[in-house]
Amino acid sequence: MAENGKGAPKALVAGNWKMNGTKASLKEIRLLSGMLKGVRLKCDVMVCPPATLLGKVNDLVKSSRISTGGQDCHAAPSGAHTGDISAAMMGDAGASAVIVGHSERRADHGESNADVKAKAEAAHRAGLTAIICIGETLEERKAGAALRVVSGQLKGSLPAKATGDNTVIAYEPVWAIGTGLTPTPQEIAAVHKHIRKRLGVLVGEKHGEAMRILYGGSVKPGNAAELMAIDNVDGALVGGASLKAADFIGIIKAYS
Ligand code: PEP
Repeated sequence: MAENGKGAPKALVAGNWKMNGTKASLKEIRLLSGMLKGVRLKCDVMVCPPATLLGKVNDLVKSSRISTGGQDCHAAPSGAHTGDISAAMMGDAGASAVIVGHSERRADHGESNADVKAKAEAAHRAGLTAIICIGETLEERKAGAALRVVSGQLKGSLPAKATGDNTVIAYEPVWAIGTGLTPTPQEIAAVHKHIRKRLGVLVGEKHGEAMRILYGGSVKPGNAAELMAIDNVDGALVGGASLKAADFIGIIKAYS
C-alpha cells in the first residue's frame, strides 16, 4: 500500500454521495454495514451523504465501522445564512468530518482558496476533520501546470494549524471526476509526492507525513487496487461508485 517512507498514515476510503440519495438509499448503508462485518480492513471507511440524510445515516452506522462526513459547511458557526449549514451542525448530526473545496463547489459556487481555508478552519473549530479537495483542470494539465495549480490551492486552502489528525487532503483532478478517466499511476504518484513535499513545508514534516492524501476521480472496484497501491496514496474519495454498497465494498476491499 501507500509508502511515504516514514510509515504511511492509516488509509481512508470516503464516499461522497453528492446531491444523490433519499430515505430509500438508506438500504445501501444497511447493506454496507453488513458487508463490512467480519472483513479485516486496513482502512477507515466514511460515507458523506447529503445533509438531509446525515442524521439517519448516523443512526444506522452507530455500531458499525462506518463514520460519516458532511459535503460542505459554512465558515460561520451560526447566523443569518439561509440554506447554509455550519460545521457544528454537521457535528451535531453525528459527522466527524466535512469535505471542503470540492471542485464542484469551487466551480458551481465560485469558492476561492480563501473561502475553502475559512471553511476548513470552521471545521477544525467544530472538532471535525476537514477533507480539503484540490486538483487541476484538463487545460491546466495539458499546459503542464498541474503541480503549480495544486501547490497554489494547497497553500491557499490549508489552515496553518492543520495536522494529520484534523485534516485530510484529497487530490481530485477535475477532469477525472465522473468521467471514467484517470491519470496514469505515474502521474498520480508525481502529484502525491509533490503534495507530500509541499505539506512538509506548509505544516512541518511531522504533520505533513501524518496527513492522509486521498486520490479521487473515477475510482471503481476494477481500478482501486492499482490506484491505492501508488506511493503516497492514503485512500480514496469516491463519488459515483460509493452510491451502491456492492461497488463501494469492492473499492474498500483494496485494503482488506
Ligand atoms: C468526487 O466527486 O469526489 C469523485 C471522485 O467522483 P467520481 O468518483 O464519481 O469520479
